[in-house]
Amino acid sequence: VRNQIGWGFIGLSTITQEFMRQAVENDERSRVVALASKALDRAEAYCRTHGIPSVYATPDALLSDLAVDVVYISTVNNLHHPQILAAAAAGRHVLCDKPLATSAADAASAVAACEKAGVILGTNHHLREATALREMRRLIQERSIGLPLAARVFHAELLPGHLHGWRLKSKAAGGGVVLDLTVHDADLLRYLLDEEVTEVSGVVTNQGFGAAGIEDGFMGVMRLGSGMLASVHDAYTVPHAGTGVEIHGTQGSLIGREVLTQRPAGNLFLRQADRVTAVRLGTREDPYSRVVRRFNDAVLGNGTPTASGLDGAIAVLVALAALESAGSGERVRLARP
Ligand code: NDP
Repeated sequence: VRNQIGWGFIGLSTITQEFMRQAVENDERSRVVALASKALDRAEAYCRTHGIPSVYATPDALLSDLAVDVVYISTVNNLHHPQILAAAAAGRHVLCDKPLATSAADAASAVAACEKAGVILGTNHHLREATALREMRRLIQERSIGLPLAARVFHAELLPGHLHGWRLKSKAAGGGVVLDLTVHDADLLRYLLDEEVTEVSGVVTNQGFGAAGIEDGFMGVMRLGSGMLASVHDAYTVPHAGTGVEIHGTQGSLIGREVLTQRPAGNLFLRQADRVTAVRLGTREDPYSRVVRRFNDAVLGNGTPTASGLDGAIAVLVALAALESAGSGERVRLARP
């Protein structure tokens, strides 16, 4: 009798190699039992090194492996949708990396397919599991800054050289900074403030990293349900800005620094009147390990994934609205999800 949750990975991606394989192994209830990759030679070597028993050339072959209970998808963005549908049809739970899909219709159909198949769909919005950001949400809910009035999200970075591939070159693959980073910001604002984004306006730029037609910078404003505004800055070209999230309220401000990262890092400050206090964060846990743990919990019938399929779909809608606004020069309203 198998007593571990078997994860099948689709795509020998950077994120799999840097974070997600380890995150699955970190929970003793789960292990990676299979990997599907087009790069079969590389995948075989990788699986040998890491003790993954089965390697497949295609997602379909992986889905016929009965040891696979959960599928983790980390291929290029345009492949998420067909691979979610295939996994759902094969009756497997799915954790998909963000963006959940590259069109509104695909995002909706991915959510519907998993609902219909009765499988769990989660989206890898790991920032919800970052220690500093979880504490930020808790302090907002506790009303430590009074009523939130405004937010700022700084997510402008220098895209590392080893990621200068499809993100900068291929619109078809779902490249561009908006589907990559703005999608995270949209989800994070919803998570921190428990409000929906109702309106987006934004502009994009290309400063020579992105190929023709692929934005490598975005600045925009999102309106939230309460009417408050959030400014959002995303880029691949800015080396020294540092990342941050600020929520400003009637009684104080929460200031997160270096918090939009993959590593367990960052600091949080609370400013009230003329006093700034560093919020104690204790041990900062790897956010991806927390995502996996919660997904395993959900598979075992306890609770829900960190971000649901619907959360992932909504973040896609906001990101697409940002692109639409940048294209048309108009503000874009979002329908209630
Ligand atoms: P990589 O470029 O390292 O890997 C992408 C994978 O997609 C490859 O391994 C390959 O799989 C497959 N692929 C299919 N077509 C192409 C193509 N034309 N060019 C390159 N690869 C192709 O990507 P990342 O690891 O950086 O990102 C993977 C996914 O994870 C993306 O959706 C990204 O948005 C998301 N991501 C999420 C993060 C998070 O924090 N939540 C962080 C980083 C990425 P194969 O093995 O079959 O060759």
